Formats: sequence, structure tokens, C-alpha cells
Amino acid sequence: MKEKLYTIELHDALTSGDECPFCWLERKLEQEAIAFVLGSSYMESDTRDKTDRAGFCRSHTKAMFDYGNNLGNAWIFKTRLTWLRQGLKKEMDGFAPGSAALLGRFKKKEGQECSLSSWIRREESSCYVCGRVQETYGRVLDTFVHQVKHEAEFLGLVRASKGFCIHHFADLVQVCDQKLGKKEKEQVFPALFEQMDKELSRIQEDIDWLIEKYDYRNKDKDWKNSRDAVQRTMQKIIGGHPADPVFHS
Ligand SMILES: [Zn+2]
Ligand SMILES: [Zn+2]
Repeated sequence: MKEKLYTIELHDALTSGDECPFCWLERKLEQEAIAFVLGSSYMESDTRDKTDRAGFCRSHTKAMFDYGNNLGNAWIFKTRLTWLRQGLKKEMDGFAPGSAALLGRFKKKEGQECSLSSWIRREESSCYVCGRVQETYGRVLDTFVHQVKHEAEFLGLVRASKGFCIHHFADLVQVCDQKLGKKEKEQVFPALFEQMDKELSRIQEDIDWLIEKYDYRNKDKDWKNSRDAVQRTMQKIIGGHPADPVFHS
């Protein structure tokens, strides 16, 4: 079966005016997922089964709390706890501690974890919200590749955007390198790189000017585009929207 294309989502993201279309999309998907689980669906057994198994990463656990709905969170985390306790009990029952002598002879590599710790770390790295976001984001990246191949006008849309944050740029370059042909790569990479250079220079100028503005000699000069340069620079470097207000119901 042919994978569904996410052309509308990709188009909306590229024309959002955000410093990164994928940060914009990620936020939208995160908020939709949180509103979904804490909406009416937390009492539906198939959704709860999924959240019991997947759990939530630290940042999305905080987002769940911030969203509100105390009773909804109580149900979701009550049964997640039950599920975790069952797994943890199994791990603890089967745990074989390494002996001191063995540890001395076959010294574990630094950072190597015992089975119980690895199990916990695996649980921590799994997240229902991250999972949903990643799934759609992956499809949108594939749609980007598809559009490059089949839509002559598509790169113009990309050029008219503000470029990408460095974090998401890594994914974009990766997927283009994996899935485009030689000819397409010769067209896409120079266009993307030129745009990244241009947009990162713009951000650099903004944050440079913000610092200049603190010089008393510049106090009467125009702020230009530097008022929110800190948060936009943070976003360009690592992704996300640090200045966002809390998302709540
Ligand atoms: Zn981004
Ligand atoms: Zn998460």
C-alpha cells in the first residue's frame, strides 16, 4: 500500500513563518497528542493500553501536568504505575548482581549498565507523545522528498521560508541523502545549504545587534529584529520554542 502523503501538513509548516517548519509542526503535533490523551480518550481502553505501555518522557510528563485535568492525569499515571511496577518486579526478581571478583577481572566498560538499570532506561526513553510526533514527522520528511522529486515549484516554497533549526536540519539532510537520486541531490543540497547560511547569518546579525543595543551609545537606536533574538537563536541551535507560554486546557 502506498504511504499517505502529508502535503497539507508540510505546506502549512513551510508557510507558517516560523524559524523552523519542523519545530512548528512538532509543537502542533505535541499539543494535539496531549489534548487527545487528556481529552476524552484517556477512558478508552485502547488508548490507555498504549499510554500504559509507552509512558511519557520527562518533558511530556511536565507538559501533561501543565495541560491540566487532574483526574485525567490521575487515571493515566495510575495505570502506567501499575504496568511499570509489574515489569520492575520481574526485573528485580530476576536480578543477578555482578560479583566483586568478576567485576575486577572483567571490568565493565565505563557507563555500561546492569540489566535492571537498562530496563529502566529503556522505559524512560519511551514516550507516547514522542512516538506519535515521530511517526507523523517521519511521514512529513518522506513527503518533503516526494515533493522534491515531483513538484517543480517546491524548492521555491522552501527558499521562501526562514530555513530550519540545526537540530531538524540534521534529519532533513539525512532523509534527502538517503532517498533522493544523484541529480536531485545536486539540486537540493546547494539550495538547502545556501539557505541555511543565509538564515543563520540573519539570526547572527539579530543577536549581535541585541548585545549592541545594551551599549548606552545605542540606547536610542532602533531594536530592528533583535527584541526576541535570544529565543530565536536558541531555537535555531537546538529546536523548540523556549519562549512559548504553557500549553493548557
Ligand atoms: Zn526545528
Ligand atoms: Zn516525549
